[in-house]
Amino acid sequence: MSHDHPASRPTTVAAPDGLGPVPAACWLHPDAEVRPSPIAGRGLFARAPLAADTVVERLGGRLIDGATLAGLTRHDSLSVGEDLHLLLAPDHPVRFGNHSCDPTLWHRDALTVVARRDIAAGEELTLDYATLTAVDDWALDCRCGADRCRGRATGLDWRRPELRAAYGRHWTPPLLARIDAATAHRPAREPTSAGDADPSA
Ligand SMILES: [Zn+2]
Repeated sequence: MSHDHPASRPTTVAAPDGLGPVPAACWLHPDAEVRPSPIAGRGLFARAPLAADTVVERLGGRLIDGATLAGLTRHDSLSVGEDLHLLLAPDHPVRFGNHSCDPTLWHRDALTVVARRDIAAGEELTLDYATLTAVDDWALDCRCGADRCRGRATGLDWRRPELRAAYGRHWTPPLLARIDAATAHRPAREPTSAGDADPSA
């Protein structure tokens, strides 16, 4: 395999134990499609109803470390481990998925995105980027229009108790690790939020 100039090509790193094989390509549910979005630019929308817990996206691409991510000028990525990010396969419609502060999708695990609730035809398919971005200085000004819009999503939103309650275990692994480390010294508390009621988890 040939190697381009190192400054022009992201370095790929090996997957850690537990992440499983990382597909090179993304998969999107056939009842999802790209349309103009009131949130930003284009977005993903359901063209048919999607029941809660339906797998809507399986993510793939290349694993890179944080230094490589920081050197990229434009990217679509998510955090899948400590100092480990998945650079999404380029030119796939999943890239158009917008952020919402009250999303219709959430992560089941690092690479699997499912419906957070029953989704009606025509609804936009969104994720809360704070649940998948373990980059402390990341921030996004938001005008998603949700009643609970935070106005600004950040890489430190995992610290917000109301978001932990809303999303339960539906954060990517490095954010779950932060949450667990921050709560480990406190008295044990059962996850009782409605957002963590998935009996199959
Ligand atoms: Zn918002």
